[in-house]
Amino acid sequence: MQSFHPPVRTLMGPGPSDVPERILQAMAQPTIGHLDPVFIEMMDELKAMLRQAFCTDNALTFPVSAPGSAGMECCFANLVEPGDEVIVCINGVFGGRMKENIERMGGKAILVEDAWGSPVCLQKVEDAFLAHPKARILAFVHAETSTGVRSDARALCALAREHGALSLVDAVTSLGGIELLVDEWGIDAVYSGSQKCLSCPPGLSPVSFSDAAAQKIMNRKTKVRSWFLDLSLVMAYWQGDGARTYHHTAPVNAMYGLHESLVMLHEEGLQNAWARHGKMHLKLKSGLEELGLGFVVKEPYRLPQLNAVKFPGFVTDEAAIRRQLLQQHNIEIGAGLGALAGKVWRIGLMGASASDANIDKCLGALKQVLK
Ligand SMILES: *Cc1c(COP(=O)(O)O)cnc(C)c1O
Repeated sequence: MQSFHPPVRTLMGPGPSDVPERILQAMAQPTIGHLDPVFIEMMDELKAMLRQAFCTDNALTFPVSAPGSAGMECCFANLVEPGDEVIVCINGVFGGRMKENIERMGGKAILVEDAWGSPVCLQKVEDAFLAHPKARILAFVHAETSTGVRSDARALCALAREHGALSLVDAVTSLGGIELLVDEWGIDAVYSGSQKCLSCPPGLSPVSFSDAAAQKIMNRKTKVRSWFLDLSLVMAYWQGDGARTYHHTAPVNAMYGLHESLVMLHEEGLQNAWARHGKMHLKLKSGLEELGLGFVVKEPYRLPQLNAVKFPGFVTDEAAIRRQLLQQHNIEIGAGLGALAGKVWRIGLMGASASDANIDKCLGALKQVLK
């Protein structure tokens, strides 16, 4: 047996994105105990920086020790009780997973469905609230990575509030890439991931809960069905002022990485990071259009960080093209997912991958392999 040495790839798919050397080096520092006062100090800084990234003052803000899917499950496990009616918007793969979570927690999912590639329709959500006045949660995906569409999170959260419901938002792909204003929009529960626009390795899921969401969790009639994700237990570790109790062993070195990525985000400035994603998207867009590739999503709803494109008609084996990009050019782009499998490519411009150099490299390689 020999040590493993991965190739150096350019990651331009739906995540993970390119991880800057600085973050890798931060993660290669000595492991210390997860209850070491120095580690706890680092965690406090990390939580403060996460609040800045989410644009929130929520006390209950921390990274779940597992990937984005666990952040999703954490939100549903804590906020949904058996019998609860939850309105869930499905316009791609991840909305479908939300439904799955609701049902596994014993909740009743009320579906609001839109076409893949379209944003969530506000009128349909309004109608769902009128038809189901008992619904107390509205769940939706802000940035649907399977299609590259952005839904109007601000308006959806306002609708939820009007109907006395909490909003539960998937911001896995939006955090750090596009405007996301948790407090201003009134988002009650939000989860993200480390490996998309934060450019960390996968494995951590930042989450944040409003006071209203925390209230609802504290007033639960039944125990949270997941022991690992039960916030009342997790928080004794993450928050327990002075007396942190052992819950699970935090992935110490992964936390160093997330901390460093948030320092980098702070250095760049959150607004500047959003602007960079937008600018890089326009650059990629003009190059792709020259190559004859069109977008799945209509212009006003396109995510800059996830470009779902239709390949030219003469491409009969799209997987072979992606293989060539990977093997000959060390570039990874994403395949279509779910209903769009085999029909589109997903070119990611997330975090550090949203750079001039990456776009030039990707366009140059695409031009070659499409010849
Ligand atoms: C990637 C992603 C997830 C899942 O995150 P993992 O880290 O892969 O578990 C959830 N929702 C959206 C919108 C995503 O893009």
